[in-house]
Amino acid sequence: MITKLVQVKGAETRQETKNREAALQEAARILQSGGLVAFPTETVYGLGANGLDEEAAKKIYAAKGRPSDNPLIVHISALEELEPLVSEISDAGRQLAKKFWPGPLTLVFPKSSRVPYGTTGGLKTVAVRMPAEDLARRLIALAKVPVAAPSANRSGRPSPTTALHVWQDMNGKIEMILDGGPVGIGVESTIVDVSGDVPVLLRPGAITLEMLEQAVGHVEVDPAIFKAPGENIRPKAPGMKYRHYAPKAEMTLVEGDLEKVPKAIAQLTEERMAEGLVVGIICTEETKHFYSKGIVRCMGSRSREETIAHNLFAVLREFDDLEVDCIYSESLPCEQLGYAIMNRLQKAAGYRKISV
Ligand code: AMP
Ligand code: MG
Repeated sequence: MITKLVQVKGAETRQETKNREAALQEAARILQSGGLVAFPTETVYGLGANGLDEEAAKKIYAAKGRPSDNPLIVHISALEELEPLVSEISDAGRQLAKKFWPGPLTLVFPKSSRVPYGTTGGLKTVAVRMPAEDLARRLIALAKVPVAAPSANRSGRPSPTTALHVWQDMNGKIEMILDGGPVGIGVESTIVDVSGDVPVLLRPGAITLEMLEQAVGHVEVDPAIFKAPGENIRPKAPGMKYRHYAPKAEMTLVEGDLEKVPKAIAQLTEERMAEGLVVGIICTEETKHFYSKGIVRCMGSRSREETIAHNLFAVLREFDDLEVDCIYSESLPCEQLGYAIMNRLQKAAGYRKISV
């Protein structure tokens, strides 16, 4: 299959607007005929297919190499499109949708009979999101179908935040990639299960736990978020059990007092380099001056965690390209957006950590 890569960013001149519309029309036709299109959302790039077409959903699993029990998030362009997909909307679900849609929040509802089990990984619930990115909503509206779209990476690789990342993973496997430039947020959506009596946070994201609780009161947290999957830990979002976001190198998180962490990482780096290994360091603006050895990459600023979310996956992918042998990463406080970032870092590290 030949994958078509089309630029759709910066539709400022009349010609650019025309080209963008033509590309969106073509992408919508591909979705309607059961094909796959990758497109930007505000969180990460998604790999879209018609969410009501089981055969199309199967193609997503094949292109990603994704286990078939890992359900897909269904994307809609307007609130009216929610009702046909679900059998019930709880008060909390309604309130959260009203407050945070369009935006980086996925809500899990009991599914209606219209949604095939092929889309929900066999579950009786369906995860739905209305993205804030205009281009994504326009594509869904033109396709006139709900668009099932997981992150557009090969399963196990960091999520794509640029069209180039998508190209690296999906070239030759899908019909089209819409290049809307780098995404804004950079980590995947917050997932909240609103199918039961109390809302449950299944995956942290840019809509933080604090924001959710302010909107609907108490929100439970799936204990699987910060634990390695095992006998007693079975995440409610099936995808959370896989070693997502994993760079090829062995990665270790270093936690502790910010006075001590850079010194410890610098020392570990020297030791590994003495063994002949190539070492990558993931740090922040505030600490980068501590490191004189190893391949040092800055995620962003501790005082503006959104910059860290934005760069995180690109840094992990860069270390894959550089073929480092091991990576040491600094940690952040597990609050607000830091909670989502730490969840991704812990998974990338396969829960390997050192406390200093
Ligand atoms: P991705 O699209 O790559 O961000 O992955 C989608 C995430 O949503 C995975 O972690 C899934 O397990 C989760 N998910 C999708 N549908 C459901 C559902 N019905 N119940 C719980 N989690 C879901
Ligand atoms: Mg994913």
